[in-house]
Amino acid sequence: MSITAEIPLLKATVSSGCNILTDQYDGAFNEYMRRWSDIDKKTPTAIVLPTSEQDIQITVQWAVKSSIPFVIKSGGPSEWSTIGTNGIIIDLSQYSAIQVNKEAGTVTLKGSVLSKEVAVRLADEGLCTALGNGNTVGAVGYFLGGGASIVTSVLGYGSDQIVSARMVTAGGDLVNVTQETHPDLLWAIRGAGQYFGLITELTVECHPLLALGNKRGVIWAGSFLFPLDRIREVCSVMKVIMDDSRHATAGLMMIMAPPPARNPSLIIAARYTGDPQDAPKAYRNLYELEPIVANGSEVPIQNTSDGREAIGAKGDFKRFGIVGLQDFNEDAFVQVADFWKEMVAECPDAINSAFNFQWDSRAPKTPKFDSAMSLHDTRYWQNNLIWHTDPKHRAKVDQYNERSIAIMRGPDETSYVDFQNGTRAGPIKRRYRPAGKLARLKKLKKEWDPEGVFTDHLL
Ligand SMILES: Cc1cc2nc3c(=O)[nH]c(=O)nc-3n(C[C@H](O)[C@H](O)[C@H](O)COP(=O)(O)OP(=O)(O)OC[C@H]3O[C@@H](n4cnc5c(N)ncnc54)[C@H](O)[C@@H]3O)c2cc1C
Repeated sequence: MSITAEIPLLKATVSSGCNILTDQYDGAFNEYMRRWSDIDKKTPTAIVLPTSEQDIQITVQWAVKSSIPFVIKSGGPSEWSTIGTNGIIIDLSQYSAIQVNKEAGTVTLKGSVLSKEVAVRLADEGLCTALGNGNTVGAVGYFLGGGASIVTSVLGYGSDQIVSARMVTAGGDLVNVTQETHPDLLWAIRGAGQYFGLITELTVECHPLLALGNKRGVIWAGSFLFPLDRIREVCSVMKVIMDDSRHATAGLMMIMAPPPARNPSLIIAARYTGDPQDAPKAYRNLYELEPIVANGSEVPIQNTSDGREAIGAKGDFKRFGIVGLQDFNEDAFVQVADFWKEMVAECPDAINSAFNFQWDSRAPKTPKFDSAMSLHDTRYWQNNLIWHTDPKHRAKVDQYNERSIAIMRGPDETSYVDFQNGTRAGPIKRRYRPAGKLARLKKLKKEWDPEGVFTDHLL
């Protein structure tokens, strides 16, 4: 039977609050179709909007029974929460909640709650957790896929904060995933949580704001702007800063052309965790290069990503190109700047793109437990953002991105890794290491989702 023919059956079993949109010419359908990126955007036969855990469970049971492929959408920025007419989207935006349990030091997240909403709510309670650098990113998806945080060296990765979950399985059951009930599954969803079931609730650890190293719940954020032709001397100074673990520096070194002037520039978006008064000392050598602009001040942790708000806009062709690296290769980064210049000359609509190197001077904090997350040895990333508007340039812009990633990672396959929240393109062994960890994940996948209801990854 076709999906359309099966939908009345679903409508008859879910609650009256659960909307099912099927008319692709309808305004609401189109509103829910708007995504962070239009790359590979597909139109499903239906968008299901559950409002309760029971609706979610019924929808999964119905889809599995009728062999209807589906994807789960939380925040919707990834390229993996879209599906064509062969399937449906289970959109969790009408089923969203944040419940803080101050006594337990945890917060329970449901549905599509956004990272910024979580950060603000926690800060109101004098708390924080390991959130990332994108206000509009769905917090649950972020945590499940590892979660590279703005405070990884202090609190660890996002997935290190996961305490427990509730999950609808491929068999349609609702399970409590805790250390006591399903320790193996908990191990797996801490970093590979998008491949085993639909997480209806995720409980993560929170920390007093004092964990940030000051009493005001702030970190220092600043930016340094240089003309791009000074890239070599800036890189030499940055290499020393990035390797100096005496100071808790972190951030992005970005090759871009910021508005309104659109001059090719090198911008260091810098952070410092600890006492903000110490930040100027940590970045002294950068100040001494006399940037065109140098500013910095303390920022409440929940507002740290506000300066990147424009990047969260929906629409256009956007994609991250990410690779985890062992060191910072200055010569390679200078070559990347040449690729960026060539790309923008050939594809002027890609002017919003930024080819970035991301660093943390300190290693990620390692949790006391083992998990699927495999990136505690990585503190350097090439983290490109491509952003363009002309469909004719789709392949070309991707090629420049791929060339720059290739030059940064070099020829030695053992010296770089992939990040599960960034890419699903390369061999899976680059995301989950060592081989024993990947084997354990594959075994668990066979146990919990042998038919690949929640993607065929790990099968
Ligand atoms: C502007 C921007 C900034 C970013 N910054 C960071 C960062 O600092 N650190 C970082 O780690 N990542 C970052 N990301 C990447 C982001 O974490 C990933 O795209 C992540 O997958 C987003 O999760 P989501 O649920 O919002 O996205 P979606 O596209 O809705 O979902 C992503 C994947 O998770 C699955 N999924 C979603 N919800 C559930 C659920 N409840 N149960 C099971 N599976 C589910 C989806 O099916 C899909 O496969 C950023 C992305 C953007 C666009």
